[in-house]
Amino acid sequence: MSTQLMNTYARLPVTFEKGRGATLQDTDGKTYLDALSGIAVCSLGHAHPAISDAICLQSKKLMHTSNLYQIENQSQLADKLCALSKMERTFFCNSGAEANETALKIAKKYGHQQDISHPVIIVMDNSFHGRTMATLSATGNPKVHDGFSPLVEGFIRVPFDDINAVQALSDNPNIVAILVEPIQGEGGVHIPQKGYLKALREICTQNNWLLMLDEIQTGMGRTGEWFAYQHEAIVPDVLTLAKALGNGMPIGACLTKGVASDVLVPGNHGTTFGGNPLACAAGLAVINVLEANQYIPSVATKGKELLNQFKQSLSLQKQVIDIRGIGYMIGIQLDRPCGELVALALEQGLLINVTRGETIRLLPTFVMSSEQTEELVTKLTQLIQNFLNP
Ligand SMILES: *Cc1c(COP(=O)(O)O)cnc(C)c1O
Repeated sequence: MSTQLMNTYARLPVTFEKGRGATLQDTDGKTYLDALSGIAVCSLGHAHPAISDAICLQSKKLMHTSNLYQIENQSQLADKLCALSKMERTFFCNSGAEANETALKIAKKYGHQQDISHPVIIVMDNSFHGRTMATLSATGNPKVHDGFSPLVEGFIRVPFDDINAVQALSDNPNIVAILVEPIQGEGGVHIPQKGYLKALREICTQNNWLLMLDEIQTGMGRTGEWFAYQHEAIVPDVLTLAKALGNGMPIGACLTKGVASDVLVPGNHGTTFGGNPLACAAGLAVINVLEANQYIPSVATKGKELLNQFKQSLSLQKQVIDIRGIGYMIGIQLDRPCGELVALALEQGLLINVTRGETIRLLPTFVMSSEQTEELVTKLTQLIQNFLNP
């Protein structure tokens, strides 16, 4: 590995050369089952033919013009996303952090429109919203903050999945919005109680706050619905997407509805690359493939089956303290730090992740076959058993 790369990642000693569906191949020809999808990005697997074709074709026509002009693919993708999400407008960018930056700017300006000179946004403990200055300030993880003060101001933090803590802030006149993940991914796959989002929706409506949902990880079918808020039949005011939207092509989006749609006007926000014809061609192809193959309902049922298989296969392991998940977003929490499982799994040809030290996180591709699902359960169960009973 080049020492000329900035020292921002402790990388595993493997280089992948190519992929196909749910598998990857390294430079020695060894194959791996990918149960992480590049952290919820390649939901449709690697080298998906329809997506590769869409990218190739578009790159031969036009890759970039500018947001100074109309862009047909961008308009089509906005229409498609709004129809699926019941949102009304879209701003395209290149990453999750940028999508959240857009949301945060909307919230601040929404406050200033009401003559609130110091607008405040409610954010959650244990959350993750990105690595730019504003999004790391919104993030609820001291490790992400460390060394980067002064942070961006205008956030107030409450525990996740605690409606009373949010309700208690109702008389704070500076609050303009709530930014929350419907399910905390980086924070350890935490699923709130049923009714949490609905209650947040009600509090926001009562107080004229914007409900801003960070669905960068949970969106685009990951939980068995297009968007996780659809499990509770609500609609947010602001929605952020990225990760799986391009199946590996960098693209993010911030969607708005109602009053949130009228906040930004020309001159307030922009991007050179965001929403270019190439990235949007990938986004359109992703949606087409998801729709044509009915992948999302199958993620709902297959996710439930996978969760139950792990509950069964690990039922005798008392040191496994929780197995939780929804769709293809699964967390297996042990009673001890288990980061070393990632390298042990790699040796066995399996790609997994561990978050918050003790939780094995699985974000498999939607295209995993039943044989590959069996391989995942067998290999990971064995790895966990060996790790817990050395
Ligand atoms: C990954 C992620 C982000 C940041 O996305 P980047 O593309 O890395 O900037 C923000 N929020 C959530 C919930 C994420 O999972």
